[in-house]
Amino acid sequence: QPSVLEVKGLTTQFSNRKNRSVTVVDGVDFHVKKGETLGIVGESGCGKSVTSLSIMRLLGKNGKVTSGSVRFEGQETLTLTEQEMRKLRGNRLAMIFQEPMTSLNPVLTIGRQIGEVLQLHTSLGQEERKRRVIELLTLVGIPRAADVYREHPHRLSGGMRQRVMIAMAMACQPQLLIADEPTTALDVTIQAQMLGLIRDMRDNTGMAVMLITHDLGVVAEMCDRVLVMYAGQVIESADVRTLLRNPKHPYTMGLIRSVPHQAKGVKWLYAIPGNVPSPGEWPQGCRFAARCSEAMPICQEQCPSLMKMEDGSECRCWLHVPGTEGGERP
Ligand code: SF4
Ligand code: MG
Repeated sequence: QPSVLEVKGLTTQFSNRKNRSVTVVDGVDFHVKKGETLGIVGESGCGKSVTSLSIMRLLGKNGKVTSGSVRFEGQETLTLTEQEMRKLRGNRLAMIFQEPMTSLNPVLTIGRQIGEVLQLHTSLGQEERKRRVIELLTLVGIPRAADVYREHPHRLSGGMRQRVMIAMAMACQPQLLIADEPTTALDVTIQAQMLGLIRDMRDNTGMAVMLITHDLGVVAEMCDRVLVMYAGQVIESADVRTLLRNPKHPYTMGLIRSVPHQAKGVKWLYAIPGNVPSPGEWPQGCRFAARCSEAMPICQEQCPSLMKMEDGSECRCWLHVPGTEGGERP
């Protein structure tokens, strides 16, 4: 399968209050194939959201992609003009966010907002647009779609707003849907419905999905492949079964252990000790070293590179570099 999205060496910096540039995403490589769902996991502050905002070119004025390449359907997007980019966004490349209110306009009716997406990207006439919007709302499971068409976003429940956002993202049948923690704020039942909806859309249209989440349960249910990010870098990547059954990086192992287990009615929660180091405070060696129970002397000195493993996965850890033992250099 050809890649819908190919990201190489993506590096994004933000300027802080003292106007110093701080790297937040640091040389990230990955691709998403047609029809595939790629999960990006990691704790908050790992650079997952900034990676997706870099791809969408929605970083805001303080953020900037400083190097790398983002090819969408074979075309470099980092050099497109803002106007060219607007033609892609919401059209062949769509994104849904954790909080729908950030992407819905509170003063416009639902019908008007989705209608505007169709107006921007299609040649449908007014009546056809209205019919298509109601069809989309129905498709995402909104009851009384013709009534909701005339409502404003704040009149809807969180779950309904999420559906509206998915309808809007699907309006032009995107080739790639980027979903950033799309279900985090929702209760478990609605969360399952939303994921089911995204999965059905994917299966029916063949679009690719890039799903950003900190929830490995969601990953297990939805994804084909997974990328684990830590402190701005990819530290492991694998197909979903390999990652969950045979994780290689101590951070990934910690994430898997952190999934709550239900045992004898007691909920056990393991948490990886410590915190993700902030951008600007990354150590020179392995960025996970301060929290890693396996850390060796070399880990403090030198950042390991992402290495290809025998089973096809990739891992950034000295433990998996042949010849590294007890801190000896390979
Ligand atoms: Fe731990 Fe060293 Fe591997 Fe980093 S490189 S995860 S510190 S063992
Ligand atoms: Mg985030």
